[in-house]
Amino acid sequence: MIEKRDFYINGAWVAPAQAHDFEVIDPSTEEACAVISLGDQADTDAAVAAAKAALPGWMATPVQDRIALVEKLLEIYTKRGEEMAQAMSVEMGAPIDMARSQQVGAGSYHLQNFIRAAKAYQFDAPLGDHAPNDRIIHEAVGVAALITPWNWPMNQVTLKVGAAAVAGCTMVLKPSEQSPLNAMLFAEMMDEAGFPKGVFNLVNGDGTGVGSQLTAHPDVDMVSFTGSTRAGIAISKSAAETLKKVHLELGGKGANVIFDDADEKAVNRGVLSMMNNTGQSCNAPSRMLVQKGIYDQAVATAAEVASKVTVGPASAEGRHIGPVVNELQWNKIQDLIQQGIDEGAKLVAGGTGRPDGLNKGFYVKPTVFADVNNQMVVAREEIFGPVLSIIPFETEEEAIEIANDTPYGLTNYVQTQDGARANRMARVLRSGMVEMNGKSRSAGSPFGGMKQSGNGREGGSWGIEDFLEVKAVGGWAAE
Ligand code: NAD
Repeated sequence: MIEKRDFYINGAWVAPAQAHDFEVIDPSTEEACAVISLGDQADTDAAVAAAKAALPGWMATPVQDRIALVEKLLEIYTKRGEEMAQAMSVEMGAPIDMARSQQVGAGSYHLQNFIRAAKAYQFDAPLGDHAPNDRIIHEAVGVAALITPWNWPMNQVTLKVGAAAVAGCTMVLKPSEQSPLNAMLFAEMMDEAGFPKGVFNLVNGDGTGVGSQLTAHPDVDMVSFTGSTRAGIAISKSAAETLKKVHLELGGKGANVIFDDADEKAVNRGVLSMMNNTGQSCNAPSRMLVQKGIYDQAVATAAEVASKVTVGPASAEGRHIGPVVNELQWNKIQDLIQQGIDEGAKLVAGGTGRPDGLNKGFYVKPTVFADVNNQMVVAREEIFGPVLSIIPFETEEEAIEIANDTPYGLTNYVQTQDGARANRMARVLRSGMVEMNGKSRSAGSPFGGMKQSGNGREGGSWGIEDFLEVKAVGGWAAE
């Protein structure tokens, strides 16, 4: 069993102030795969103090030098990619091939994009030709608490650490206690890259412990959080006492609007995208809205595609999906599938219970409901498992109404070969992102949501700006 009880504070691995062991469970086997510590107030205070002490020096470090360290980090991250894939695979259940390509790949992608964006960013510039003595300076917000979830662990860690580092913030990372191993490996990489001591600190802990201590801490200037809407609300309230900046990337219930004239692979693509990462993606297209003319065919196709999705352990190579992260999630998903059945949605693939032949491990059957209406629980709640809800519609207006009738607003999807209609839809859908006809967003594009999906944007120059304050100076002397 892996034993990793220490925290990374002020450039060194240190024992927790008080022993508090926590077992990390491998969701493929339900066995403990590692033991870590959960921190307490003394650990949080030590990490915040280190970040605070390092702040003036890091802010004064020229941005080119900060970027150079992120470049070094990227080099190490790439070199140690296999270790990272293995860590994520065992602790959160991503099948190893998918962990290598998508989970590890997301991290290098974000670091590369930050390096490019930071090189082009004007951290310090005149207000404009009309005001030669005005200067606009973008400077670090200060000490940032970074709180991350388990579902796309390195995606989230790099989105926050990469941006904070080039912006000149110092930081304390609290990864999810469900998936701490990848973040501890990442801390080793930060150390190897040579970031000055105190710039990056890591304390493991749970939400009510280290999570709450960070969000309430008077010496933390901002919180960047990714996770559930529930925790986002709790964090906003806690941070309000000290009026911290709070950036939230929360849940979603994306609509994938498929019109009669969609390309022939649209349904297939939508189902596979829903099942990817075992449905544990905030931007999953979990509500498939299908126009009446192709509805029956779409339901048949979706059922067939889902029934061919194979499920298996994370350690096995191949294109199957893995288990969901833990018992709590497994139980929640089972309850929601049962509620869908009870409310009268038509089960056309999957259902409750484990897939055949898998008696241990948090495995869920790839499940599709048809004839769902948008008021049913399976259309409203973020299930965070491999469960798709298909909802019929007749007109474009109806599709827009259904798509926007959700508390969330993260990503919506549109499938139509009518370009004018696609663009019309993109304008009226209330979400931070819209992806059309299978085209994902390009490098450096901002990621984030509206409504209860959060605020702020991560990735590229928008992600860097989240960690910057704007300072306006009048009377700037000519240099
Ligand atoms: P979670 O909210 O339970 O936990 C996320 C992190 O917050 C963990 O590190 C946890 O320890 C911490 N936490 C929990 N309660 C806290 C509190 N009161 N104060 C401070 N910290 C607290 O979420 P999860 O189950 O780990 O992740 C799944 C959720 O994350 C889903 O809802 C998903 O949609 C969302 N998510 C959103 C995005 C996005 O960018 N929008 C990306 C990935 C995941």
